[in-house]
Amino acid sequence: MTLPVHTVTPPSAARAHLFHDGTVDDYRAAVTAGADRVARRVTEATGPFTGVRPEQLAPLVDAIDLDRPLCDTTAALDELDEVYLRDAVWFHHPRYLAHLNCPVVIPALLGEAVLSAVNSSMDTWDQSAGATLIERRLIDWTAARIGLGPAADGVFTSGGTQSNLHALLLAREEALAGASPTDRRILLPRLRIITSAAGHFSVQKAAKLLGLAPDAVVVVQTGPDRRMRAGAVRHEISRCRRAGLTVLAVVATAGTTDFGTIDPLDEIAEVCATSGVWLHVDAAYGCGLLVSPTRRHLLDGIERADSVTVDYHKSFFQPVSSSAVLVRDRRTLRHATWHADYLNPARMVAERIPNQVDKSLQTTRRFDALKLWLTLRVMGPDAIGELFDEVCDRAAQAWQLAAADPRFEVLTASALSTVVFRWRPAGTPADLADAANLHARSALAASGLAVVAGTKVDGRQYLKFTVLNPATSPDDVAYVLDLIAEHAGRYAPKTSTLELPCPVG
Ligand SMILES: *Cc1c(COP(=O)(O)O)cnc(C)c1O
Repeated sequence: MTLPVHTVTPPSAARAHLFHDGTVDDYRAAVTAGADRVARRVTEATGPFTGVRPEQLAPLVDAIDLDRPLCDTTAALDELDEVYLRDAVWFHHPRYLAHLNCPVVIPALLGEAVLSAVNSSMDTWDQSAGATLIERRLIDWTAARIGLGPAADGVFTSGGTQSNLHALLLAREEALAGASPTDRRILLPRLRIITSAAGHFSVQKAAKLLGLAPDAVVVVQTGPDRRMRAGAVRHEISRCRRAGLTVLAVVATAGTTDFGTIDPLDEIAEVCATSGVWLHVDAAYGCGLLVSPTRRHLLDGIERADSVTVDYHKSFFQPVSSSAVLVRDRRTLRHATWHADYLNPARMVAERIPNQVDKSLQTTRRFDALKLWLTLRVMGPDAIGELFDEVCDRAAQAWQLAAADPRFEVLTASALSTVVFRWRPAGTPADLADAANLHARSALAASGLAVVAGTKVDGRQYLKFTVLNPATSPDDVAYVLDLIAEHAGRYAPKTSTLELPCPVG
């Protein structure tokens, strides 16, 4: 056999930017230069944010002529530093306390660099090879940690939103199994999903995308502990049935986004089992407990779920994106299967060729699993669990600090790493406290000294710490509480009168 002879043409300048065996030195240099820039900013950052405003940054981004390249990596990095890195929001900083964003572990960053260079695509074996097997091992590993049993399976997704949509699609199809097209049209508007008032809004979005009725999501109120009550779920299931409605799933939340509370999974699983309703557990936040050396029991009952959402990019210290949806019965994944002649013809199933696209809502898909793989291979699960335990401990300390401080009111303590509180010294009228807390939050972000989140609880404005950084010390928390009190106090100086410094509402 002879190899084809190529006519040699001199490579164009553009081709010098393609990654191949002749450009590996440029690749190394470029990636190292990028890593150097990030490293410099990470070292120099004195706070989690600079407080830059959109109207300050937008003109810089707008002024860049995308049709006139700089033709130089260093110049492009200088420019990137101006429009992005200098003013980025840094999740590694101990005073970043806002949303469910974690600092990331280095083995996962290594994985990210490797996976994007190789650029495997997870849809089919013939675009991924070993990557498919690695993803499958991690799905099996996660399912075993949950305890879903021998028939479990699942697939990596882009995030909890997609995982929830995927799980509810499967649940919808199971609820409609065997229905004729006409019956489907009749049944579809009668399908209901039960979740709690503290459930994630992606459940609402999923219901919309799944073609359900506008009132398809039945929201049960929680008690003061912000957990869904199994009795309320049972009651809603019977109420729906009496009304001729079909409950396609109950969504329990293992780690509510706002409160870090965990629904009573075992009790809810019991209700679902006795009523024959699909149980989806949204553990996007709480999945870190799967590897916790001391808190795994908080997820007891999760093993009874029909489907589970996990976000490794929330509590496994992984870079975005890294998530998965798991199912108890792998056969249910067929509802996401479509065979295309050009990609994954049905005969490949008989030939036992593992094509992940058969289980996924996505086609071309990143090899995100590699980040978790390298994390487990370098650090191991216990180390990740220890980090998550540490952030739960840090949050408990933060809660105690705020609770002991007369300037603040706290809500029920979280099982995970959330602290919901508000500035409200004795005698502060509720409306004034609302406005002052809102003000304190934006003033704090504008100062760049700390970033905290806000939320409404029972119509009132609260502030929220989501602690996902083990480096956040009690001193950091005390400092941020002082800053909040200072901003809020300046906004509402006369807390004993009803006078507002400026009109609100
Ligand atoms: C964050 C979150 C989601 C959504 O996950 P994304 O990865 O942001 O799409 C869903 N459910 C809960 C409980 C969450 O905290």
